Order: sequence, then structure tokens, then C-alpha cells
Amino acid sequence: MPEYALQLSPTTLCLGLAFSLSCSKEEQALTPIPLLVVSDADTAETPGSGIDDDSDDSDDSDNSDDPDNETLSIQEDEVVTEAGVATVTIEVEDGVTAFMLTAESEQRVALERIINPEGNVIFDWEDWYSENQSLTSAIWPSSSEMVLNWPVRAEEGSLYEGSWQVVLSAVGSIGRYQPNSTIQVITHTKRDDDFDSGVVRVRLVYAEGVDEIEGVAEAMNAGIERWKQIWAMQGLEPLVTTESSDFDPDLPYPGDGAEEIYDLALDSAENEITMIVGETIKGGTDYLGVAGSIPGTLTAKTRSAVVISWLASAGFDGRFDDTEIGILGETMAHEMGHYMGLFHPVEQNGWSRWDACDDTPNCNSESRCRDQLGENVMFPTPICTYSGCIEQGQISPIQAEILHRYSGTL
Ligand SMILES: [Zn+2]
Repeated sequence: MPEYALQLSPTTLCLGLAFSLSCSKEEQALTPIPLLVVSDADTAETPGSGIDDDSDDSDDSDNSDDPDNETLSIQEDEVVTEAGVATVTIEVEDGVTAFMLTAESEQRVALERIINPEGNVIFDWEDWYSENQSLTSAIWPSSSEMVLNWPVRAEEGSLYEGSWQVVLSAVGSIGRYQPNSTIQVITHTKRDDDFDSGVVRVRLVYAEGVDEIEGVAEAMNAGIERWKQIWAMQGLEPLVTTESSDFDPDLPYPGDGAEEIYDLALDSAENEITMIVGETIKGGTDYLGVAGSIPGTLTAKTRSAVVISWLASAGFDGRFDDTEIGILGETMAHEMGHYMGLFHPVEQNGWSRWDACDDTPNCNSESRCRDQLGENVMFPTPICTYSGCIEQGQISPIQAEILHRYSGTL
């Protein structure tokens, strides 16, 4: 049995950047984040039907399968590893088009394989672990929480009725498989055969006092319009509800996991992604935004959120101009993209690691990547000069496939 080479490097995913003084932006390392919670999936098919955000229903877990549910169903399992691995069986009913598996253990958890109802291995971690392309972070044993959404792209094929098996591993801190480890699993399955249009519910929570700062809520609302514009080109619509809170405005870095995020996400519905808008992230303005993981989960975990720093977008004067509002909207679309499964089309650390979308070029230098991918919403940083910033609103067809297959896209 192979040992993981614990250098889980590719974990650096996401984030945004801040402008430096000279207006060249710098980027930073990123990290992904997840968040979300499920409630019971009332139908998200009708945009417009406002979501009520009063958040006090719920902690997760209470909702289970509802055969009449046209959207999301939830199943809970507990498995124990033998020789380091354990199998979760997902009974896919007719009409189910995607599933999200969220696993948690005392050990690090990673995806080993996916086996279809005929018993064939259709995904093996070893096919991707050493690749320079990223399909899902689920294969990296970098956290005690793991999130898998399947299928990822159209190329992975469609789900169909039958027993699908997902083999998970429990891995210790030095990369050894761990026997007798309990893994808690929550599986969301969605019924939504329309991969061309979809609605994503977002619970936007302002950290304490942030929505009372002059200009911030207005800028956020304008930024949300920019985000909607970007998504609309691919048939996606965010349904955003907003609320105030007493959350600390110096936000945690969600990729590291934070109990405060878990506590907040408990009040989000199971078909809702939690977005927290604060002043700073991890004490500074290095990041415009960060997503908890790639993808992020719909249930409450410590990485169940996308966080956004209003101050990083507004710049040194703390006031938004039109360019900064545009970047704020693009940052929301970018971080949500991570949360829904998108990697950067190229990582700026070396320009030698790419996403798994064949329609985003595998450029290999900063100048080429800026030329070829600079307008993509998932480019790792804004691109600005003294004369302004380029718009980053493009989503490739395969990136759109991933967004539409995300289980929270209904
Ligand atoms: Zn990013």
C-alpha cells in the first residue's frame, strides 16, 4: 500500500490579492474555503422566491431523504477504516445528478477511489496526485475535513441509478494510513438535470459593524451586481440574503478551519453557502478573499465559508471607486468559484500547475498567462496598471460545467 508523500503542496489555492502602492497587485497564496449548510432543500428553482434568512432553524443534520425532494437530499454515515481505508456506499436513485461527500475524522481524510455500480474504478487518486493539474482537493490528505463533489466535469460522466462506492483513507500526520479510524460522512445528493442554468443561495453575513461603515454596504451591493453579471453569462444566478452579526471583523483564514466559522455555518441552510464580509483576514489585507476549500461543503464544518475583506478591496483610503467595486464583485465570483470546485487556471507560483479544464490554456510564464488567462474570473490576481484594471469576468465552458455540477447549484 502506498504511503502518501505528505508534501501536500498543492493546497495553496485561492485567494486574492491586494494592490501594492504602485498599483501592481500582488497576489498571495491562497487557500480555499468551504462553507455552507443544508437545510432542507426547499426548492431553489425559483429565483425570486426570496430566501428567508432567518437563520435560526437548524443545525444541520436533521433533514434526511425526502423522496419527493427535487433538489437536495442528505444521508449520514459512519465508517471505520481497515488497513487505513473505508468504503462509503451511496445509493444513487434515478434522477440524481450529482453528490457531495463531506468526511471528517480525527485523522486527515482523503479520497482513494470512486467505484461505479458495475464495480469499475472510475477515479483513482494516484492518477491525479502527482499530476500538474488539479481536479479536486479531495485527494490531498491535508485536513481532517474532506469535500468531494461528483461528477466534477462533464468528462467524468453522468451518475445513474445504482450503488456507487467512495473509498476514503485516514492518514496520519506523517502520511501513514491509519486503521480503526472513524470517519463521519455526510452525503448530499441533488436532483437537477439542468446543467445549463442554476441558482446558488448565498448567506452573506457582515461581521460586527462592517455594514455600518460608510460606503461598505453600498459597495457590496454594487459588487454583487458585477458578480451577477459575470455569472449570468453562464446561466448562473446568486440568490444573496444579507444579515448583520457580531462576528469578529478580523476574519479567520478559512482554509485553516475555525470553530467560529462552524458555529456561524450551523445557522445556514443546507442549500446555502456562507459568505462572511469582514475588515481583514488573518490580521491583514493581503487577501481580498479566501474560500475554505475546493470545493467547499454545504454542511457546517470549520472551513464552511468564503470570506471577503472589504478593506483589501477598498485600498488605503478605505473608500471604493468604480474599479475597486469591480474587483470586489470579481472577488466574490472568484471565491465562490473556488468553493464550487474551480481551481486557478494557472497557479502563479511557478506558472507550472494548472486546472483540469482543457479549455483554459496551460501557459507557462507570467506574461503569457496574463495574455491568455488574465480576463478569466479564476486568474489568481487582479491585473492592474496606472490606467486601470482589466475586467476579469470570463468563465470557460468547462469551468461552467464544474459550477453547474456543484451540488449546491440547483
Ligand atoms: Zn483564488
